Amino acid sequence: MEKKEFNIVKKIKFTLKNPKIVLWLIKCRIRNLIFSKFGYRFLSEHSSPPVNIFLYPTLKCNLFCKMCDIGFSRKSKLTDSYKDISLKDELSADKYEPFIKELTQFKPNISITGGEPLLYSDLKNLLYLLISKYKLTTSIITNGLLLEKNAEMLVDAGLRELMISIDGLDETVDKIRGVKGLFKKTVSGLEKVLELKKIQNSRLKIILNFTITPINVSELVKFVEFFSKYDIESITFFHMLFKTNEMISQYTCQYPNMSNEYILKPSSISEINPKDMDIDILRHEIEQIKTKYSKYKINFAPEILGNNLNVHYQEHDKFTFRKKCFMPWNNAYIAANGDVQTSLLCFHKIMGNILKEPFLKIWNNEEYKKLRKLLIKEGAFPVCSRCCNIF
Ligand code: SF4
Ligand code: SF4
Repeated sequence: MEKKEFNIVKKIKFTLKNPKIVLWLIKCRIRNLIFSKFGYRFLSEHSSPPVNIFLYPTLKCNLFCKMCDIGFSRKSKLTDSYKDISLKDELSADKYEPFIKELTQFKPNISITGGEPLLYSDLKNLLYLLISKYKLTTSIITNGLLLEKNAEMLVDAGLRELMISIDGLDETVDKIRGVKGLFKKTVSGLEKVLELKKIQNSRLKIILNFTITPINVSELVKFVEFFSKYDIESITFFHMLFKTNEMISQYTCQYPNMSNEYILKPSSISEINPKDMDIDILRHEIEQIKTKYSKYKINFAPEILGNNLNVHYQEHDKFTFRKKCFMPWNNAYIAANGDVQTSLLCFHKIMGNILKEPFLKIWNNEEYKKLRKLLIKEGAFPVCSRCCNIF
């Protein structure tokens, strides 16, 4: 795995060789900082374009992850697996083109997610449009099962980051994600990508995403040990983020009028109870990683310290971070049928559809302004305390 010091030397060398690119990157960073930190205050319910666009080109998946609503609905054989979007809803890449062209006006970071994006039948063309034709910074997140088969396409595409979700070693991953042999297949895929990356001298960054659950909590250190020998950029350990039944009931009682329009459902708790997390083990694992692997790029998202670990997993109504959601100023989520949504883990609210209207018109329409007004007034709602957009 990449070491922090080594990375700094590489960055200095890169700056000396490519001053123009670095200048452009600095400009983007400053712009992102301004938009994310100050746009909220200065622009009120009208917002500058989002910094991040999350594309969900398909909600199909080939795994049954215990902590995921899609995985759970697949296991329960629910056809409309997630919210109101049918699994059949998929747009061909050319349907996205006018939208992608519009994005070049403000150049957001694009993340392709899902479902499992490698199951989206027109992925190669979508990547071509985003990266080769319209030069947008694009990342993809995959569950690894089809990685080996798609390694060449992914390395050739010119992606900035390839994120691989893998939450433990051997049988632990298979158990959490519901498919036997998944760990081995993911590692084979990773090795193939690394081999191709080396041959092509590609700058693709590989990031491993590990969601901490009560099942894998004792494997964090072993995981870092195992993957430290690979040429990957970094590891991110994600704490569980969720909305429980209790949180939703509380929301419905506290905001009876609002909850009719801004509907929320429990999420990411399907088969795993966050309260089962062994906090002592978790704390010990985190400390070990911070001590033994301090030179490596290992992130915890969100970074939860001290007693807040207990609060995070046991007292779900308490905020362990800021009580402010910047989501409708920073991020937009495009569902598989082209619907623009607040976020897949947020309200069941469709703000518009990119096939019917230009995105920027939707971005500042009355629905968006209304939601921003609400969030300016409230900061966030108690039900938001374990949402990914709050951190
Ligand atoms: S977490 Fe990802 S891979 Fe797992 S079931 Fe959900 S969408 Fe599929
Ligand atoms: S934190 Fe933001 S994105 Fe998350 S549920 Fe609350 S309002 Fe929605």
